[in-house]
Amino acid sequence: MKAFEKNIRKVEPYVPGEQPQHKVIKLNTNENPYPPAPGVAKAVRSTDIERMRLYPDPTSSALVKELARYYGVEENQVFVGVGSDDVLSMCFLTFFNSEKPVFFPDITYSFYKVWADLYRIPYECQKLDADFHIVKEDYYQENGGVIFPNPNAPTAIYEELDFVEDIIEHNQDVIVIVDEAYVDFAGKSALELVNKYDNLIVVQTFSKARSMAGMRIGYAISNPTLIKYLNDAKYSFNSYTMNQTSLLYGVEAVKDKEYFEETVAKIVETREWAKDQFRELGFEFPDSRANFIFVTHPDHDAKELFEALKKANIYVRFWGSERIEQYLRVTIGTKEEMESLFAFLREYMGR
Ligand code: PMP
Repeated sequence: MKAFEKNIRKVEPYVPGEQPQHKVIKLNTNENPYPPAPGVAKAVRSTDIERMRLYPDPTSSALVKELARYYGVEENQVFVGVGSDDVLSMCFLTFFNSEKPVFFPDITYSFYKVWADLYRIPYECQKLDADFHIVKEDYYQENGGVIFPNPNAPTAIYEELDFVEDIIEHNQDVIVIVDEAYVDFAGKSALELVNKYDNLIVVQTFSKARSMAGMRIGYAISNPTLIKYLNDAKYSFNSYTMNQTSLLYGVEAVKDKEYFEETVAKIVETREWAKDQFRELGFEFPDSRANFIFVTHPDHDAKELFEALKKANIYVRFWGSERIEQYLRVTIGTKEEMESLFAFLREYMGR
């Protein structure tokens, strides 16, 4: 081993879902199957190339303004970043600086562990119950901060707002982050609690319900004090996180509420139909309130099924990790894509 090896910050990285470069039915990374709002396409066509020469606005003010308007909060309550991954990573760096462990579920977004390791933050995973629900009482113990997604991923289980509020209420000495990447497909957002609890941060993304995973836009909404701390950390790291074009297109995406609601409704409708199809084929799954379903089958090995699907150019997500070895996460695609999936499954299962 070279002497310098001991000074290298080593971390076991997050493993993103595959992004195949050939055409597949892509149900593996929870993207939206519909294009972004028509206003975005228009903005693409009129993109001012000249502006690329210049640095983008470090405050991202146009997008911050639009998000503040949309959610009915003040501009100093909004922080934007390069996807919610960037926002969440900044939150870990900024708010989780305790000797006490940060709490999050044992089965959840696997990036939490990676950021905690990367930033040397102690953490403790709280076990989901046998039905994959968060046990809120586990979060009553002393800790250095709390983070959980709602709906949770990859389980797709949504907890009602009083449940979320109970966790926030019991943790007022630390920062609580609610990761709402999938909330638009689910129900009420914890956003309505940000003016009630000064320890709450809600994080959302343009990657799912707003069909813009490729533009990398995420945001946090909280009180001005916590947003200021986040900005201080951001400016100490990289002032120009948001690129010029993402900012422009992001604004257009937020403006079109009608299109947003329409595509979300279509996905929810396909999801409910897909649940029936999965049930008919004998799959079991926790009730999904996200744009994906976490399925298992009593007679079919998940890994084998995952591989058979992949061979047929249908990509879903499989982890094979503890407690979820027999589960696949299937993103809700268009009705046609889902029909192809079920046609394959029927044949595979000889039905
Ligand atoms: N939170 C959760 C729970 C997720 O599943 C994802 C998507 N991988 C993210 C955050 C990050 O999404 P993005 O960086 O695209 O906003």
